[in-house]
Parts: sequence; structure tokens; C-alpha cells
Amino acid sequence: MPTKRIGLYPGSFDPVTNGHLDIAERAFKLCDELHIAVVANPSKNPLFSVEERVDLLKQTTKHLKNVKVSSFEGLLVDYAKEIKANIIFRGLRAVSDFEYEFQMALINRNLHKEIEVVFLVPNEKFIFLSSSSIKEVAKLGGDVSGFVPAVVKRALRDLK
Ligand code: ADP
Repeated sequence: MPTKRIGLYPGSFDPVTNGHLDIAERAFKLCDELHIAVVANPSKNPLFSVEERVDLLKQTTKHLKNVKVSSFEGLLVDYAKEIKANIIFRGLRAVSDFEYEFQMALINRNLHKEIEVVFLVPNEKFIFLSSSSIKEVAKLGGDVSGFVPAVVKRALRDLK
């Protein structure tokens, strides 16, 4: 029997953007079950709490069946083993993502031989998008429509 493809798309998602959702939709098509997981890493000084980030992801991915949203602390490969994921998805934007992602993929493969890391490229209209640029624009009062879903836009506005 073919192995069930269980995907894991990890990230900070602080907050989730249309670029993340583009990658999640592509990953969703490639596996039987997709887990989107917020990495609880307080050293990154996040704007939204883990619970808020999970909640925003749940609201914005509810149209995708078989998507589970969760959070984890610690090593990515340990969480992948725990949920029996056999594919890790990461998004690649411009060259800037490549070096870090390449290094992490090889480290993760050394730590967990059975896992494959798959890089997905978003629609080019999202290639420049990052959570940090969205936070900056929102902080300065700019309009973030088109970059983030409406619930995220509201959440950013409510922070003020
Ligand atoms: P991390 O802190 O793990 O990089 P992010 O939330 O910034 O978390 O990103 C999670 C994943 O989504 C990473 O693989 C990142 O490259 C990818 N990603 C983020 N924004 C985009 C985008 N606009 N297009 C494609 N991939 C993206």
C-alpha cells in the first residue's frame, strides 16, 4: 500500500500572509494530510502570541479539508516524528531564503533520514511578501489589504 503523505508546513506565521497561504494551498494539493505548525520561538520576539497565530491560521485555512493547525516547541524533526509527517514544506522566495533553507534542509535530513524537504515557489505576486514587512507597513498606518487576509488586517488594526 502506498505510504500516506503527511505534510508539515512549519513557520513563525507572525502573522500569516497571502504568501504563506499560497504555499499552504500548493502543499495541500501534494499530500493526504497537511499540518501547518506555528513554531513557538520566543527569542524571535513575536508580535502575536502562539495562540493568536494558530487562531488566525485556522480561520484562514478552514476552506482546506484535512488541514490541521497546531504549534510546537523544540526541534522541527522531533515534531515531524511525533505527527508522523514524511514531508516538510518550506516556501522559497528570492535568493535570500535559499542559503538558510538549504542548510536547514540538510541538517534536518541528517537528524531524520526518512523525511523529505520540499521547497515550493509562490505565485510571483507574493515573492516580495514577508510577515516583517507587513508588520512595518501596518505599524506605519499603511494599507495591508492584498497582502494579508481580512481577519489578519483586522488583528493588526486591533493591536494599535
Ligand atoms: P520562519 O521564521 O520559519 O522563516 P515564516 O513565517 O517567516 O517563518 O515563514 C514560514 C515559511 O514560509 C518559510 O519557508 C518561508 O520561506 C515561507 N514564506 C514566507 N513568506 C512567503 C512568501 N511570501 N512566499 C513564499 N514563501 C513564503
